Amino acid sequence: MPRRILLLGPPGSGKGTQAALISKALGIPHISTGEMLRDAVSAGTELGAKAEALMAAGDFVPDDLVVAIVDERLRQDDAQSGFLLDGFPRNVAQAEALGSSSAPDIGTVILLKVDTDEIVKRLMKRGAEQGRADDNEETVRRRLEIYQAETAPLVEFYGSSVLAVDGIGTIDDVFARVALALSGS
Ligand code: AMP
Repeated sequence: MPRRILLLGPPGSGKGTQAALISKALGIPHISTGEMLRDAVSAGTELGAKAEALMAAGDFVPDDLVVAIVDERLRQDDAQSGFLLDGFPRNVAQAEALGSSSAPDIGTVILLKVDTDEIVKRLMKRGAEQGRADDNEETVRRRLEIYQAETAPLVEFYGSSVLAVDGIGTIDDVFARVALALSGS
């Protein structure tokens, strides 16, 4: 099974949930840029101060900042035998930066497919339950637009490395499909 995996999909497609399960099953670290940025905001670091308003509006944090935190994270010992990236790269410039970093090539890209109506429904629910500042309808629509414009082109960028998985269903159903896709790759 590949051990350098990238998880792609629109906000609300279940990336975080599936990433946690894959990471546990394969014993590889789950590296989520969204989580690292939220931690930086909570900790009140310089990075957090730069990211906070952008994240609240659903906009991207500048590539150089995000590339730098991923680069540093991928140098840590636990990432040397594999990793699962969730939420990065988010555009072609970030994918190119990852490709030319010291990290080894990405083996497999899992694309979680979920339609827009289902995404808006899920994110509204998550906003109500978890209180994430960027899970309100306006920001959700903005994040989806940006996903289409900036992130969806990565499917073409990664070409035949991309395995599309239907992201509708229970967490276990989706994980079974992801595991099947990974076992055949
Ligand atoms: P996520 O948890 O992956 O949905 O990310 C939450 C927010 O963090 C995004 O809406 C962006 O504002 C920011 N973010 C996360 N990852 C990236 C990235 N790779 N590039 C730019 N901004 C990011």
